[in-house]
Amino acid sequence: MTPERRHIAIVGAGLAGALLAILLARKGWRVEVYEKRGDPRVRGYTGGRSINLALAERGRHALQQAGAEAAVMAHAVMMRGRMVHFADGSQQLQRYGRDDSEVIWSVHRGDLNVTLLDLAERAGAAVHFDRRLDGVDFDARSARFVDDRDDSASVVPFRALVGADGAGSALRAAMQREADLGERIEPLDHSYKELEIPPAPGGDFRIEPNALHIWPRGDYMCIALPNDERTFTVTLFMPNHGDPGFDTVRTPADAHALFARDFADALPLIPDLETDWARNPAGMLATLYLDRWHLDDRAVLIGDAAHAMVPFHGQGMNCAFEDCVALAERLEAEASPAEAFAAFAAERRPNAAAIQHMALENYREMRDRVDDADYLLQRQLELELQQRHPDRFVPHYSMVSFMRMPYAVALERSHLQRDILERATRGVGDAADVDRAALDAEVERRLPRLCDSSA
Ligand SMILES: Cc1cc2nc3c(=O)[nH]c(=O)nc-3n(C[C@H](O)[C@H](O)[C@H](O)COP(=O)(O)OP(=O)(O)OC[C@H]3O[C@@H](n4cnc5c(N)ncnc54)[C@H](O)[C@@H]3O)c2cc1C
Repeated sequence: MTPERRHIAIVGAGLAGALLAILLARKGWRVEVYEKRGDPRVRGYTGGRSINLALAERGRHALQQAGAEAAVMAHAVMMRGRMVHFADGSQQLQRYGRDDSEVIWSVHRGDLNVTLLDLAERAGAAVHFDRRLDGVDFDARSARFVDDRDDSASVVPFRALVGADGAGSALRAAMQREADLGERIEPLDHSYKELEIPPAPGGDFRIEPNALHIWPRGDYMCIALPNDERTFTVTLFMPNHGDPGFDTVRTPADAHALFARDFADALPLIPDLETDWARNPAGMLATLYLDRWHLDDRAVLIGDAAHAMVPFHGQGMNCAFEDCVALAERLEAEASPAEAFAAFAAERRPNAAAIQHMALENYREMRDRVDDADYLLQRQLELELQQRHPDRFVPHYSMVSFMRMPYAVALERSHLQRDILERATRGVGDAADVDRAALDAEVERRLPRLCDSSA
């Protein structure tokens, strides 16, 4: 890209917007970022979405590209696997990977955002807070921003706009008025509510810190992710309607009764359950599909603005961070923004669709399968096949969380592998009874070798 074209305006200084700002500013781009909220370093963080997030290999790699990995990892808490809390009160740690090199990390959204904002400014990006995108004149290439504190407006010229303004993107709405993006939003009939497990009286974690805790209960579940300050953020996912459902579990007393009945071992860990329930709104969940992510050389969408997904694979941010690396690379490599945006969308759209699909599939697995006998048998075989065929058989979760192969490839291989496992375990109660020779032959026949380990 020629020097006079290396000028970009990013809408939204959330996770994706701040990371993209670092990546481009470090490459010498003139970067202006506009964020509707106030500066979280001055007024405190008011995120609005989940308090903490699972960071996996894809996200870590992107942070590394931006020189942000060390600062983020200094406050991340390792999660080795799922600690499953069964209805009878027993627990079981199901490791995510083979050892501690294959783990995921819990990071605090607010701290992560502040770290990325600091680094973006240090790299030379200008971040303008209290600037909510309110409208775009694409012909004049000017954008209108409003400061919600006093309703004052400013009009800013731009060369190209990047929409990193999240699931409810104002830039997407403006683009949609200009050209049909083919937007489809599929709401999930389940919502979530956040609660907190504080530290123990002595200041330590109340439960095992190095795990993602899950209380699977069929159609609903709780999870808990550890925080650096020795708390856990608990999230209850539940249908909007039903028993239990957000329409029947309404008051703090209803919530207490639900926990006493179905999450009895979690209840004493959440002393402020009623207050948390009353204070924290239920969050809605949806998948956003678009046929088009860009408007010639004038605008492109990334992260949740382009492909919001349900959070059950813990990949929304990881995927958004991969977008940032891909877009920064395309902007450097292609001759014009129009070519860069088109190439970026062509590369990323099938992969976003794949992880959106896997995130929906994983909801069922988390709430309903992790305590099934046939699931546990298949998981045991999966790990065994990985040992026997490390260059062909990599468990689904590992392909998504510990590798950087395109999500679409991970999806295709996962479906093949699941079919192999289901056929091998049909009518079989014990791993010893599985026909290993037939299984090995099927793996070699149906799963092509993976070319390199980071693929
Ligand atoms: C309950 C829950 C749990 C999750 N857990 C995980 C997880 O474990 N791992 C994971 O990888 N992902 C997770 N996610 C997904 C993750 O939160 C998102 O994918 C990620 O935040 C997307 O980043 P983003 O920058 O695209 O959007 P956002 O983080 O939403 O940032 C958008 C930014 O744009 C700003 N903005 C909005 N409108 C305007 C406007 N008009 N003008 C200017 N600025 C504007 C907002 O204030 C915000 O700062 C979870 C999501 C939820 C809801």
